Amino acid sequence: MGVETSMQANQGMPIPPGADQDLILQQVTGELQDKGFVLANVDKVVNWARTGSLWPMTFGLACCAVEMIHAYMPRYDLDRFGVVPRPSPRQSDVIIVAGTLTNKMAPAFRKVYDQMAEPRYVISMGSCANGGGYYHYSYSVVRGCDRVVPVDVYVPGCPPTAEALIYGVMQLQKKIKRTGTIWR
Ligand code: SF4
Repeated sequence: MGVETSMQANQGMPIPPGADQDLILQQVTGELQDKGFVLANVDKVVNWARTGSLWPMTFGLACCAVEMIHAYMPRYDLDRFGVVPRPSPRQSDVIIVAGTLTNKMAPAFRKVYDQMAEPRYVISMGSCANGGGYYHYSYSVVRGCDRVVPVDVYVPGCPPTAEALIYGVMQLQKKIKRTGTIWR
């Protein structure tokens, strides 16, 4: 009961190290010693696991991909969030659309998205993916990848920084915790 109340007060987000976290650990330890087990909602546990293992489909289309790669490199190390890029849609939870989506590429993009298993999520990274960007009036560019797939999080910028992408990933984690169910 106490554990649940503390989690709700923090809107389901991880409690940072400190007095609050110590209190929760004490409560969990107390319950374990008293009863020998701890109760939790299955959907909350599943969503917690989901947000800690978001595997993105590698989908760099243009210059934004360099900032996406930057986010995976040692300075920011997205692996520590459980965000580990996969080269296969069958093993991916999220697709990060990093760059300019052209009309020629759109069918391939949709096919990759269709091959991802549910629940699947989309992060649109950068002005080009968000709305065509500099090439908005070009004959060859899709004016936003949300014309092809449903987008969960938009990361603004040209290019967005690695920090902005990490913030976008964290927003997606929040969204999954807030809205996620076992069946999406
Ligand atoms: S938003 Fe800017 S940096 Fe990103 S792909 Fe488009 S032109 Fe390149």
